[in-house]
Amino acid sequence: MLNIAIDGPSGAGKSTIAKEIAKRLNIIYLDTGAMYRAIGLKAVRLGIDTNDRDGVLTFLDNTEIKIEYNDGVQVIYLDGENVSSAIREHHISKAASNVSKIPEVRLKLVAMQRDIASKNNVILDGRDITSYVLKDANYKFYLTATPEERAKRRYKELIEKGQDVQYDKVLADINDRDYNDTHRDFAPLTLTEDSVYIDSTDLEIEQAIDKILSYIK
Ligand code: C5P
Repeated sequence: MLNIAIDGPSGAGKSTIAKEIAKRLNIIYLDTGAMYRAIGLKAVRLGIDTNDRDGVLTFLDNTEIKIEYNDGVQVIYLDGENVSSAIREHHISKAASNVSKIPEVRLKLVAMQRDIASKNNVILDGRDITSYVLKDANYKFYLTATPEERAKRRYKELIEKGQDVQYDKVLADINDRDYNDTHRDFAPLTLTEDSVYIDSTDLEIEQAIDKILSYIK
């Protein structure tokens, strides 16, 4: 199976780029962040503090996450409900980042990710794909950009979706999530030695896509 792994901090353009590469290579795209968002969403809906490991563990085993593809587009189900839009609410980003620190949450989702990758040609993006989930992926990339540039892109995206946000708040959230993602004990975001490092701060999407594709034979 062809497995392409892309890691990097929030807002680096990973999903936009991975989606396009999946289309061009005619393979599937697995957005692993969506899975953490779904668990975060469930905690929020249940009124459980997303930092409370014991609280999250009360529902984790009884939680079904399912991924399907509709014309190549990923659809995510939480206990049978299509939550593909609900998980994109801005406040769910922090919830996802919090629950992603809980080892049991990671182990459950990593097992699903590995299963999908073993059965499909797939490009996955996340935080721990190159370093933990698929250490033996055929191709590994680390995509990043400055926090300010990432906040600018995320802000624009949220405004275009009609969400009521402020740039300063988006930047603060990005910095906060960067800290969380790089400092957690279990499978933190890290640049592995065998990943190709791409700084997209001054790159157009198309240029970043070309750069990644130039490595894939
Ligand atoms: O990629 P996205 O921003 O949707 O991910 C939401 C959160 O889920 C991230 O901030 C990160 O904390 C967590 N995550 C993770 N490992 C992954 C993907 C996402 O910890 N492989």
